[in-house]
Amino acid sequence: MSSENIECPLCSSLETLNIKIAYKCISCELIFKKKSHHLSLELEKKRYETHNNSVEDKNYLKYLKKLLDLNPELKSPVLDYGCGPTQGLKALLKIEKPLLEVVSYDPIFFNKELNKNHFRTIYASECVEHFNSPKESLKKMIDLMSKDSCLMIRTELYDGVKEPLNSWWYFRDPTHVSFYNTKTIEKISELFNLEVRLLKSPYIMLQSN
Ligand SMILES: [Zn+2]
Repeated sequence: MSSENIECPLCSSLETLNIKIAYKCISCELIFKKKSHHLSLELEKKRYETHNNSVEDKNYLKYLKKLLDLNPELKSPVLDYGCGPTQGLKALLKIEKPLLEVVSYDPIFFNKELNKNHFRTIYASECVEHFNSPKESLKKMIDLMSKDSCLMIRTELYDGVKEPLNSWWYFRDPTHVSFYNTKTIEKISELFNLEVRLLKSPYIMLQSN
């Protein structure tokens, strides 16, 4: 393990450790894969299309509902950020809470202009670990939040994961490039002035004031 002057793509610290195929930031503890281990957009897209996330699949909807149930006061409009090739949350909310306005967004499959400072709930399930430039992508997402709104994230935190990281399936997934722990999430809340409402892997809830 050696220290290198590679800039952290989240907190911009220049103190990062070289840990084989990734770097770890000493300051915010983000682990980010080296560029040479990022997939091309085309390969990434292919891989998502093989994910079997059908809205007809009851287990998939049940899985989405888990994150939803953490916030009983779901406020409208809701944004499903990084929804992938299916619009699972939209389908689920149509059944569960038909009065809510739900927008699906995905940079590859449902790319469109979104209104800033608009959404009262943003749902980002299995999304932030795909961010190549976490600071930039988080800013883009957080800029869409209105006042008094909630950002709900699902991502596996690496606290407690034993070395080597390569033995962790979440790290081995070639579409996953950014890995967070409790400290990283706290740093994000500081950087973007959000309050942590829940921080228990894999669930995170951040609130804007
Ligand atoms: Zn950092």
